[in-house]
Amino acid sequence: MVPDAQLALVAERIRDAEHPMKVLAAEDNPVFRSMLVSMLTKWGYEPVIASDGNKAWLALQSPDSPRLAILDWMMPGLNGVDICRAVRSSCREPYVYILLLTARNDAGDLVEGMESGADDYLTKPFLAHELRVRLRAGRRILELQEQLLAAREALREQATHDCLTGLLNRGAILETLDKELSRASREGRPLSLLMLDLDRFKQINDAHGHAAGDAVLREAAQRMKAAVRGYDSVGRCGGEEFLIVLPGCDGAGAIAQAERIREIIAAPPVADGSRSIPMTCSIGAASRSLPAVEDADGLLREADLALYRAKDGGRNRVAGAPLPALV
Ligand SMILES: [Mg+2]
Repeated sequence: MVPDAQLALVAERIRDAEHPMKVLAAEDNPVFRSMLVSMLTKWGYEPVIASDGNKAWLALQSPDSPRLAILDWMMPGLNGVDICRAVRSSCREPYVYILLLTARNDAGDLVEGMESGADDYLTKPFLAHELRVRLRAGRRILELQEQLLAAREALREQATHDCLTGLLNRGAILETLDKELSRASREGRPLSLLMLDLDRFKQINDAHGHAAGDAVLREAAQRMKAAVRGYDSVGRCGGEEFLIVLPGCDGAGAIAQAERIREIIAAPPVADGSRSIPMTCSIGAASRSLPAVEDADGLLREADLALYRAKDGGRNRVAGAPLPALV
């Protein structure tokens, strides 16, 4: 049986051959430079060459720039240590792993090199296999960092999104409402809020089962997302209740938008396997221009009252918070 470590190594080699990793080789000495290039190519990397410090810095600024860099310390233009400092002060993500090449052997110099932000160093002249293992170590660090970034992204997604529908969750949509409301009041622009509730959702669950209920919620979420503009936000508040934040939209605009969403939710019925499940919704609309609205709570209260009126009026309809003149 082949040990796991060996299998992992084979997998790594196959991946390297298919997607060679870019490595910046910044070296002003043409002999060293061509040695670096031939070694990197032989080991399955894709060398990106720079013959001085300024070119190296430019290569690190380019889109899709190398994330692994071999920098000679002494170069015309920016030297290796200058580049390390510049890379670190830009705090960019993803991380650039820097291996500094130095002819210097003085301990004080090496400390300066590492303190400038280099991750590792090699003293010239060095053996090929030394460089190879150092690069391998750098690459592992980068891979670990990638996994950490992906895990952080997944956690952020989990913390802010509803796992059934993929919409913002209650906390995140309320936070969005707060943020958009303060922006609207700062800029003196309108903002409206829709509170949407799927009609008789309990009956759908009772008649068709919870899996069908989930399919209806997911479909409703997709239709809402498709119906709104790119800068609107849709969130699931819990159960079958949703909030839609409409920045820049006044009361009349909100009613029109709500009416559109109501129609899109209602037709066609949700197809769940061979079944066709009718779905409608009621929507309450409120706008920040209403006198009773001072903050997010006021807006939520008004939208909730309007939703109640829509339900009371027979469902599958839109109701707006009444303006004082109409009350
Ligand atoms: Mg040099």
